[in-house]
Amino acid sequence: MADNDVIAKLWALANNLWWSWHRDVRFIFRDLDAKLYRACHRNPVALLRRIDPEVLTERVHDLEMLARIDRAVRELNHYLESNGAWGALHGGPLNAAPVAYFCFEFGIHESLPIYSGGLGVLAGDHLKAASDLGVPIVGLGLIYHQGYVHQRLDASGWQQDPVERVPLDELPLHELTSPDGTPLRVRVELPESTVVLRARQAMVGRSRLLLLTAQDPDNPEPARELTARLYWGDMRVRIQQELLLGVGGMRMLQAAGIEPSVIHLNEGHTAFALLEAARQLREREGLDGREALAEVGRRAVFTTHTPVPAGHDHFPAELAAAHLAPLAAGLGMPLEELLGLGRVRPEEHGAAFLPTVLALRLARHRNAVSALHAEVTRRMWRVLWPERPEEEVPIGHITNGVHVESWMAPEMHELLELRLGPEWRRGRAEPQAWQGIAAIEDGELWELHLVLKARLLAWVRRHVQAFRARLGRPLEPVPLDEGVLTIGFARRFATYKRATLLLDDLERLDRLVNHPERPVQFIFAGRAHPHDEGGKAFVQRIDAVSRDPRFSRRIVFIENHNMHVGRQLVQGVDAWLNNPRRPLEACGTSGQKVVLNGGLNISIPDGWWAEAYDGRAGFAIGRGHTHRDPALQDARDREDAFRVLEEEVAPLFYERDAQGLPRRWIARVKHAMQALGWRFNAERMVRDYTLGAYLPAAGGLSAALPPRRGG
Ligand SMILES: *Cc1c(COP(=O)(O)O)cnc(C)c1O
Repeated sequence: MADNDVIAKLWALANNLWWSWHRDVRFIFRDLDAKLYRACHRNPVALLRRIDPEVLTERVHDLEMLARIDRAVRELNHYLESNGAWGALHGGPLNAAPVAYFCFEFGIHESLPIYSGGLGVLAGDHLKAASDLGVPIVGLGLIYHQGYVHQRLDASGWQQDPVERVPLDELPLHELTSPDGTPLRVRVELPESTVVLRARQAMVGRSRLLLLTAQDPDNPEPARELTARLYWGDMRVRIQQELLLGVGGMRMLQAAGIEPSVIHLNEGHTAFALLEAARQLREREGLDGREALAEVGRRAVFTTHTPVPAGHDHFPAELAAAHLAPLAAGLGMPLEELLGLGRVRPEEHGAAFLPTVLALRLARHRNAVSALHAEVTRRMWRVLWPERPEEEVPIGHITNGVHVESWMAPEMHELLELRLGPEWRRGRAEPQAWQGIAAIEDGELWELHLVLKARLLAWVRRHVQAFRARLGRPLEPVPLDEGVLTIGFARRFATYKRATLLLDDLERLDRLVNHPERPVQFIFAGRAHPHDEGGKAFVQRIDAVSRDPRFSRRIVFIENHNMHVGRQLVQGVDAWLNNPRRPLEACGTSGQKVVLNGGLNISIPDGWWAEAYDGRAGFAIGRGHTHRDPALQDARDREDAFRVLEEEVAPLFYERDAQGLPRRWIARVKHAMQALGWRFNAERMVRDYTLGAYLPAAGGLSAALPPRRGG
């Protein structure tokens, strides 16, 4: 009967995370039962599991609903069947054997909370853009059944980290099985026990994502908890998680019959994959361990994201020795020699083992994630190539970009489709596709911005009032005004990002936000790592300032920053503040999302902004200097941030013509969209990886990694 057919279609839609970048599809689920949809945190699988069958039957009898479902299924099928023109044309050997993309975190949608911040969101955007382009890729990660951090503030504003249970059975995940239906299982040897791993597969459009878990009844209890949480536990847990992902991931690929042409390591945590790939190669082809490592290295791409040495895992020698012995045996190599590959100075016995160093030594294609970050990275790791001058250290860069459909407000997307036409619809990685922005009428763009801004402010007020109510705080005054310049700041509260930079001068902040003609308001959000007391102190400080009567209308903090919160903010703010301690922001991507939605960046010229800012595309804080004394650097950057806000940003925003339009502000918005939109998106990024790294690694082309235009 028809009902089963419709329900099957709904499941087909729910089971591909394609919906995470298609609002029309998400709205189908919302409109089945709006209240339940919200209660399920916008998760279609949970909704279908929990919806009252009678309600569902009634809803799918609605002709319009049926038509929407049919259209969505047709579009999904069309998307999956079309082979992705760009990848078919340029993918070469990747079309026969995919890229294996390893990362510790993936941010695809907020209902799958296995990411901490930018790195995970980047990995999610990478899989989505590869899917759009038709570049075959398989993601490998861990599925953390307790997620990352579910931020809850207590009455004093201190961040609590209550344990969360991720409802694995209510997510679009399917156990990876062999053809006879039995779960695929692989084993990884750890000093305490051998751990059994299983995999759940998620479909991200055309891209597959395999997420490993140690939750198997055959594992002893402590081993089962190894995959409980992201970035959790001590060094021992960390090295074991890294082995489970790297070694287990390669074994799972083998068990599933997937032989990748390229191994892409996204950040050093994933480096052990190369050792296992070499072990497999040796086993298969009888190579010597060293030859196998060299061969695997030719097919490996390593992307580094961390510009300070302390940010890279340093495993004590004994810990590393105890954990790497089985791999050394499998490679037929002396353990000491293998350990040497991960030491800064191989001959220094007893020195720490760094997976990043292992990856830099083995992978032939190495890149940083912005031009400035590449300079810093070459300086930092020059020690590994002592015979070379710094500029010849073989680390290039491919600047990060964001997935347009995931971050651009659907209304803005519609406007650009309409005004920029087929060129933009076909692709966003070329400057020509964005040319038409200049011709969009100022009034049309501004009106849309005001609609998006009003939606954001309404959402923030609801959130803030619910938060105040929960903590028994006064609900007056209602925060935020429509007409006021609204600046967002949302990201991980790592201390180098300096969320409280402006809050260290409250007098001046008071004058800024309560200026009689040109007031400013701020929306902050961000989670601190559970062990980061400094980051938690930032949260508490912002919360305290937001309760100070001078600021309680103008400064708000949104609890539990995640992709949903981020999406709201980047789509509705007038401007975005980014004030990291240069040069510690390898790239930064949240500001790129703001560009796509017609907001302006106010940023330290660090990471992507150092190559994006051209004097007109937004605002720059400071002149890109770095001081030896961080306190001095903070003071100077604070001073300049206030100056830019008072003298440049606010005056430009409040300068209106007879029609009430901020013409010169809008001109900057348009310039930013046109000059930056094509460069800082994930389609350009994945094309650069494909042409500059994947194809050379797969042996399909002999180009060296180009530090190319995208930056
Ligand atoms: C985009 C994004 C980030 C990245 O923030 P940056 O500090 O700009 O790198 C972090 N968290 C979430 C949830 C995001 O969506």
